[in-house]
Amino acid sequence: MKVMLLREPGQPLSLVERVLPQPGAGEVRLRIAACGVCRTDLHVYDGELPQAHYPIVLGHEIVGTVEAVGEGVTSPREGEQVGVPWLGQACGICFYCRHGQENLCDDPVFTGCSRDGGYATHTLARAAFCLPMPKDRYPDPAEAAPLLCAGLIGGRALSLAGEGERIGLYGFGAAAHLLIQVARSQGRQVFAFTREGDEEAQVFARSLGAFWAGASTERPPLELDAAIIFAPAGELVPLALRAVRKGGSVVCGGIHMSDIPSFPYSLLWDERRLLSVANLTRQDGHAFLAAAAAAKVTSHVRRYALAQANEALDDLRRGTLQGAAVLIP
Ligand SMILES: [Zn+2]
Ligand SMILES: [Zn+2]
Repeated sequence: MKVMLLREPGQPLSLVERVLPQPGAGEVRLRIAACGVCRTDLHVYDGELPQAHYPIVLGHEIVGTVEAVGEGVTSPREGEQVGVPWLGQACGICFYCRHGQENLCDDPVFTGCSRDGGYATHTLARAAFCLPMPKDRYPDPAEAAPLLCAGLIGGRALSLAGEGERIGLYGFGAAAHLLIQVARSQGRQVFAFTREGDEEAQVFARSLGAFWAGASTERPPLELDAAIIFAPAGELVPLALRAVRKGGSVVCGGIHMSDIPSFPYSLLWDERRLLSVANLTRQDGHAFLAAAAAAKVTSHVRRYALAQANEALDDLRRGTLQGAAVLIP
């Protein structure tokens, strides 16, 4: 098998040959068909996450076919196509696991962060944490891959944002371009906020049904019920709080963010809420995939060969992508 290995933070990934591993008890081995490139990969690459182990194979939006199963695995079966998301494993016994919050598990394993992920031709995964992605429903693995993180985390953020009709999305990348389609199918109005002057992203947002698109420093034409921040920029927090109505929510959807500047208490006053989304549960996975199917969500992807992983990360960092980058081994 081949992997693109990150030996230590900040070093270019290098193509390495490895012996094909045998799945252990409770594991499956997948032949990878596609792996999405997520902003979190950049945070692991930059050494910004304390959870990360090095050397590591990045990638937690994996679509692949089960090629071998370990002891005790009854599902998925050989030949089935599955998705492997960020939550690679939860302990099942801690307080959070016992209370339906495995996303907050005290002893989790994260795909492509504390366990090798999908920038590879093959990978091992815990069978119980794979999501079914049957080939008849997901015929193009490249288009399915971004659903697994950009989609799932966005979906969790949207449910935490509440039932409000007017939703602001700060940062119009992989997550927002999927989420806008789900939000529109629920009859919501979406307000897309981009970097100042990023006309291309604003045009892209309008093409996907944004009611309004503009710079993140602008005030939207209407008060928002809730806002979700996908860009890892702390200065967006006060801007988003300023844009939501009394009692509205601001949800931070990223795993890492630059420091939030101080802001007047009046921005939070009137029962506005500020919260973060951490990881995902398997239930989120099933719920989002169902919602995405109902909304007939389509992914806009740019495909890269596995060996072009460094280029894909660079393009994501520079913000030159519309939609999501996907590696095809
Ligand atoms: Zn746990
Ligand atoms: Zn991700």
